[in-house]
Amino acid sequence: MPETPNFLSLITGSFASPAAENPTVVMIEAAYRHHGVNARYVNCEVAPDALGDAVRGARAMRWAGFNCSIPHKVAVLAHLDGIAESAEIIGAVNCVVRRDDALIGENTDGLGFVHALQTVADPREREMVLFGAGGAARAIAVETARAGVASINVVNRDVGRGEELRALIEERTSAAATFTAWDGPYQVPDGVTLVVNATSVGLFPDIKAYLAVDTSSLRPGTVVADVIPNPPRTAFLRDAASRRCVTLDGLGMLVNQGVIGIRHWTGIDPDPAVMRAALEDLFGS
Ligand code: NDP
Repeated sequence: MPETPNFLSLITGSFASPAAENPTVVMIEAAYRHHGVNARYVNCEVAPDALGDAVRGARAMRWAGFNCSIPHKVAVLAHLDGIAESAEIIGAVNCVVRRDDALIGENTDGLGFVHALQTVADPREREMVLFGAGGAARAIAVETARAGVASINVVNRDVGRGEELRALIEERTSAAATFTAWDGPYQVPDGVTLVVNATSVGLFPDIKAYLAVDTSSLRPGTVVADVIPNPPRTAFLRDAASRRCVTLDGLGMLVNQGVIGIRHWTGIDPDPAVMRAALEDLFGS
């Protein structure tokens, strides 16, 4: 018997504003093509007051799920049927997954970071310094703590946001947490073996922006990671490499959260190398 043709694609996508500069579609569709999955990823410009309608539309059309980016990561919670544990602790959802008829909120930012980190180092028992206390930093703090880092020193300009993240780590994870107000070049203390920039410093177009860190305090062998995907080789990572640190760029986090999203939506395990190559074509490696 010939197979019945199926012209119905599995639909996934992203809701954000602004959406035009979001490169996620390039790596996700590269994976769908590579693995021969009949799926689409639609990059949608969704204004804040249209989010409810957008989610209802995705429900009505039985989308397999969608990513949420700025400014919807918290607001989307009001439109979902459930939330995964880590997303609840982080307090934000960046990936929604349809399970039967329920839309469930996940957070893949932090886990994507941890999976990328695990390609270069084991996070367990490390003393960590985390620059930033925004959405990316919260996700990274919660998931690196769940992956076993011993302690996290949150370093941030805004004291309120920094203290809030310190308290979140203390109260909701097993890692120890401290906070340092960031008011000058930061000296990385002895014993720190994992340093992460989770601020927006270095993001295109302001690629020469200076991250206030005394890079002479970075010891050889320290793992230094940056969340900035564009350009992947930030000034901070270049300085760290010249100090013989082990470096990890922001493409690793972006690719690995995409891998987790595709796994949730389609059940396949996509090849991260294919997805990274698609992004490197865009940004340059
Ligand atoms: P938020 O706006 O939530 O947080 C921004 C953070 O950066 C705050 O802690 C802010 O400090 C800090 N910051 C901004 N400018 C400076 C500066 N000049 N000096 C010191 N600190 C500064 O943004 P997100 O957390 O959502 O995103 C941060 C970055 O992470 C973005 O560049 C984004 O592209 C990247 N990202 C990368 C991902 C990836 O997959 N690679 C995924 C998600 C995000 P303060 O609180 O003091 O204002």
